[in-house]
Amino acid sequence: MNKQKILIVGGGISGLVAGVYAQLAGFDAEIYEKNHVAGGECTGWDREGFHIDNCIHWLMGTTPGTELNKIWRTSGALGDDTKILTSDSMYISELNSDRLTLWKDIDRTEREMIALSPEDEVEIRKLIADCRKSEKVQIPAYKPSELLNFRDLFKMLITMGSALSIMKAYKGQDTTDLMNKFKHPLIRCMISDFCTKESLGYSFPMAYGNFTSGDGGIPQGGSKAMALRIQKKFEGLGGKMFTGISVDKIVLNDADRAIGITLSDGRLVHGDYIVCACDTDYTFGHLVDLNRMDPVLRDVYANRKAYPVYGMFQVAFSVDSDIDCLKGEYMIDSAPVRFADWVSERMMIKNFNYEPSFAPEGKQIIQVMLGLGEEGWDYWSALYKDKEAYRLRKMEIAGNIQSMIERRFPKYVGRLKILDVWTPMTYHRYCNAYKGYNQAYTITKYSAENPYPSPFVKGIDNIVLAGQWMSPPGGLPSAAIQGKFAIQRILRKCGRKVKFD
Ligand SMILES: Cc1cc2nc3c(=O)[nH]c(=O)nc-3n(C[C@H](O)[C@H](O)[C@H](O)COP(=O)(O)OP(=O)(O)OC[C@H]3O[C@@H](n4cnc5c(N)ncnc54)[C@H](O)[C@@H]3O)c2cc1C
Repeated sequence: MNKQKILIVGGGISGLVAGVYAQLAGFDAEIYEKNHVAGGECTGWDREGFHIDNCIHWLMGTTPGTELNKIWRTSGALGDDTKILTSDSMYISELNSDRLTLWKDIDRTEREMIALSPEDEVEIRKLIADCRKSEKVQIPAYKPSELLNFRDLFKMLITMGSALSIMKAYKGQDTTDLMNKFKHPLIRCMISDFCTKESLGYSFPMAYGNFTSGDGGIPQGGSKAMALRIQKKFEGLGGKMFTGISVDKIVLNDADRAIGITLSDGRLVHGDYIVCACDTDYTFGHLVDLNRMDPVLRDVYANRKAYPVYGMFQVAFSVDSDIDCLKGEYMIDSAPVRFADWVSERMMIKNFNYEPSFAPEGKQIIQVMLGLGEEGWDYWSALYKDKEAYRLRKMEIAGNIQSMIERRFPKYVGRLKILDVWTPMTYHRYCNAYKGYNQAYTITKYSAENPYPSPFVKGIDNIVLAGQWMSPPGGLPSAAIQGKFAIQRILRKCGRKVKFD
């Protein structure tokens, strides 16, 4: 019997993981990726002998035994020989002359926070208690919710126990409400240094709890190497990967069934099922008609206050020295380099000394991220119409950032060189990302009670959506889980049962 063919649009982490699970389930899978390298936003590139890593600061699911870890292992993202790099701190926040570190040793963090701000002691103890409770939280990654039977639901409720209790404790609150419980400005900053102010109130305790649980390591080799491992596994299982080719449209027959895809070179490729693992902003309006979008996504795109997206201005510097002034990820005030109201007042500086192969011997690479509001997209996409003006503005801001780093860390004076500068426009051009954001929309206290979009396309039975937008606020775990779920959904449509490990 001929195997059924699944065509996957997009070779980011979601599409790649979908490809591996499709092959494991006995389908013939083909992935079509517009770029020449697989990985989408989970990638990296080389400049002047340095490697710029674009993505993984923190990979949830590095702890063996969790459902998410099984996906990373099954897909080949983490192999037996993949070393997981860990750090003793999540990040360091600095304001004026005060400094706080989020240590892996949560008791130490608690002590240091109380020493910094004794008047916040009650709230600090409450927050740290919630972080400890969050250490037990696991992301459900076994099956899509509509496929869970009574036994699965019962098992999930047990593993979700602590998550549900944290969510209940923060019901109706966002990160701004959490920040406002503290008097000390640095504690408030430290919370929003990781979680946007509009995100739900439990985002910070959940994230820090995940880190102190020992999860959230970085696979050695970084983002691009991880994506290429999944591609290798996919191809090793017989899957076919086509890079450097964009999918233009999904072709339907008279009965509104998808029969294949057309490619940018004009070819038509036939398939039995299509998985759209690209940004939903591209899927609806390009691959399929906009009027097939489900009501949740319509609301997301229309109601910008309830579902914000953000952006980033990033610079990579080479450092002609091995002196490490940062010791990991460092958050500082960016007031001197702010160039508009919608630029965050904080910026992150990170060095990659944990990956000696990313820089020539005796040198380092450091990268800076400046968070942008949604207007950042309007600004950079408008400026991009004049390429020279865009380039000059990027270099001007990068130069200001360099001066600021040199002022804060005088040991870097005369040793920094700009390697590359990128904006939300970069992610839009490279990945077709909505407003150039690298994650999915944020769920806020103004979002609908059910803010999750349908993974199906109205009126077309054999298209399934994957990708981080199916599971906001996105990130690598969402992308991978939705890749696996897309194949489980297709199996249900075919009436087949395949149990994955
Ligand atoms: C700077 C940065 C730091 C990050 N840090 C972290 C982190 O520490 N931890 C974490 O969990 N996440 C992090 N993320 C987020 C993470 O990278 C994304 O959530 C994840 O990679 C999204 O995967 P995806 O497959 O859903 O989407 P994408 O990566 O966007 O993949 C979609 C793919 O579809 C392709 N495509 C689009 N249109 C077409 C078309 N018409 N035809 C063919 N192909 C098409 C795109 O080129 C792309 O490869 C970070 C992202 C960035 C940019």
